[in-house]
Amino acid sequence: MRVLIAGAGLGGLCLAQGLRQAGIDVAVFEQDSSPRSRAQGHRVHIDHRGDDALRTCLPAPLYQLYLETRGQRNERFQVLSAAGGLLREVPVPGPAAEAVINPGWAVSRLTLREILLAGMDNIVHFGQTVHSFESGAQVRVHFRGGGSATGDLLVGADGIGSVVRRQYLPDAELRDTGIRWIGGKSPITPESDAALPTTLGGSFAAITGNDPAMGIGYLRFTNDPRATADRLWPGLRLTDQTDFVMWAITIAADRLPGGDAALSTMESAALHRHAVELTRHSHPGLRTIVGQGWPAHTFFLRMGTSVPTAGWRPSNVTLLGDAIHAMPPAKGSGANTALADAGTLTRSLHSVRHQGKPLLTAVGDYEREMTDRGFQAVRASTDVLDSVAQGLINGTVPD
Ligand SMILES: Cc1cc2nc3c(=O)[nH]c(=O)nc-3n(C[C@H](O)[C@H](O)[C@H](O)COP(=O)(O)OP(=O)(O)OC[C@H]3O[C@@H](n4cnc5c(N)ncnc54)[C@H](O)[C@@H]3O)c2cc1C
Repeated sequence: MRVLIAGAGLGGLCLAQGLRQAGIDVAVFEQDSSPRSRAQGHRVHIDHRGDDALRTCLPAPLYQLYLETRGQRNERFQVLSAAGGLLREVPVPGPAAEAVINPGWAVSRLTLREILLAGMDNIVHFGQTVHSFESGAQVRVHFRGGGSATGDLLVGADGIGSVVRRQYLPDAELRDTGIRWIGGKSPITPESDAALPTTLGGSFAAITGNDPAMGIGYLRFTNDPRATADRLWPGLRLTDQTDFVMWAITIAADRLPGGDAALSTMESAALHRHAVELTRHSHPGLRTIVGQGWPAHTFFLRMGTSVPTAGWRPSNVTLLGDAIHAMPPAKGSGANTALADAGTLTRSLHSVRHQGKPLLTAVGDYEREMTDRGFQAVRASTDVLDSVAQGLINGTVPD
């Protein structure tokens, strides 16, 4: 059995690791020209769902490397008010702080992706953009600019703009949340430490009473990533990283000077200058943190969400992660569910390879579990966005 995966994001790579472990022939096609051609985002909150999947899919030393290169524990979601010139913790409006996220860990996205790429040199093909597919007894993917590949199953793990989903489930809809995110990261300095309350600890915090609304969170490695890789997976050169504070400006699209068109084509240094300009009336500590940001790590995102879609008949094409159930980041669930999909599909395909289960039965079993979990997470994340996050972003939540 040969499995083709479109997209080398967190979900596609976790699946590829799991299938390789199961002795299944797998190839991943990624549109980025190289692993480092694009900033991968900064910090991701991984809870028991992502953790279980990584344990299922990764070889034991790589899973141990992930455990030892995580950042600090992150138990809850916090809200800080910048009103009155002091950043202080205020109660989360609506649900209890513990209900917004599952307890988990702050993880460096870059480090996690580098771990997921370990040992995959002959499996992941960069610079290959999937353009379309043809499905018959086998499935054939066509690449933009020519060339194709054939396999027994195609997995669309190509993110929120998935071309596989658009062709396979053309009625599946996306909705624009109307929120835009300019994200960056900065070194931890005495000035940033002085600006942030000591109660911030491991949590991610939304900041209200500030114009514009922001989000902020530390990533403090528990071990030196490079030294840990040298011990657990010799030869893997993790990008040298120091502890950092990630920040995000969260703003309604209609308040963004220049709009989406200008920001989505802006290169990162210009975007960083834009972020500095947008925060010129912000709390002084936040201005300092944004001002100290590494320009090359600034990025812009339009925040979209999937609309849960009705079931479909299983075939030799399936979907995983954001490609089918993208959601707002309000509950820290998107990566966790993408990884969980990879764990479920690995187990399903293992039973095809080793217990003779028919492929379409295995795909159907996977899709039932994946859509139940994924669309439930979409609804829960959208609820938190509507009940808590929108108010914080629009400044309609009292301080
Ligand atoms: C600001 C922000 C913060 C977030 N924070 C969290 C968090 O704390 N916890 C959490 O669980 N989730 C979080 N998420 C959600 C999480 O990032 C995503 O849900 C997760 O990355 C989805 O993984 P994926 O593998 O499905 O897709 P992606 O990570 O989007 O990967 C898709 C890959 O496919 C490639 N690709 C796209 N099109 C093609 C094509 N045609 N051909 C070949 N390759 C293609 C892309 O280049 C990419 O590498 C956050 C999201 C955002 C936007």
